[in-house]
Amino acid sequence: MENSNVHIKGRFAPSPTGRMHAGNIFSALVAWLVAKSQGGTMVLRVEDLDRERSKPQFIDAVQRDFETLGLTWDEGPYFQHNRDEAYQAAFDSLVERGLVYPCFCTRADLHAASAPHHGEKLVYAGTCRALSAEQRAEKAAVRKPAMRLVVPDETIAIDDLIQGRFEQNLAHDCGDFLIRRSDEAFAYQLAVVVDDGEQGVNSVVRGMDLLCSSPQQRYLQGLLGLPYAQYAHVPLVVGERDRRLSKRDHDAALDSLLERFKTPEAIVGHIAGITGLAPTCDPATPEELLQTFSLGGLREKLPDLVQIQWR
Ligand code: GLU
Repeated sequence: MENSNVHIKGRFAPSPTGRMHAGNIFSALVAWLVAKSQGGTMVLRVEDLDRERSKPQFIDAVQRDFETLGLTWDEGPYFQHNRDEAYQAAFDSLVERGLVYPCFCTRADLHAASAPHHGEKLVYAGTCRALSAEQRAEKAAVRKPAMRLVVPDETIAIDDLIQGRFEQNLAHDCGDFLIRRSDEAFAYQLAVVVDDGEQGVNSVVRGMDLLCSSPQQRYLQGLLGLPYAQYAHVPLVVGERDRRLSKRDHDAALDSLLERFKTPEAIVGHIAGITGLAPTCDPATPEELLQTFSLGGLREKLPDLVQIQWR
């Protein structure tokens, strides 16, 4: 096995913005299976960076959801809300190298502290990159800037365990990206990389919608001298008309799932069955699924690498 000498550490990284739904459960289950099948451990990190969207009641709920499903963690929970010092240190080291500039554009910083899920990716045109010191001072007098990281005209390739090779040219496909919002909250990309690095996470398994963030994260890992993680992006579980499930989509949220399926094992087994992780939809615990799980065969088992219909 590729990483036979390395201790594999995976993570659950829920944003406490709602109860878990079938899609979150599927990625968490695969994350757990990928780590455990390699003798690894799991970290729980509550991604409450976006203070407006994170709700205290979900911080407890999300932990109970994992427990209910038998998705155990070995370390944590860690939280992002008290990690500003670490994010600041990383931010400062980028500033010192002249890689950061203030951006006064209004629109794009809105999503910076949230994970930019599929379809939300904006390529920044570099508008504020070449402002003079005078122009910056003038603009700063009326508006607090967000901060962007300069990216090179460089193609970054990720060898994803499920999706295969994924390449992105940072300058063309992404543009200079936000590492701090105008309200001084650190952006998702920076926080996640600093946390994964410091918490020793080297196996990142999450939804396909975050595949396009991986090159940015790998680039940041390089700049900050952090080890590269192994990525696996699982297909999204979608509802009717290919709409991706959301935490607001109550049909597939954990409390409604419990109503429909009655037991956590029935939920886990159903999700494993429809996604190809198991040959049937029979009730199963994560531990039971681990007995037959093979990392090598994962890609072949999934019926579709991009999206799987919820039913
Ligand atoms: N907290 C993010 C979410 O719940 C996941 C971020 C990640 O896995 O990198 O969407």
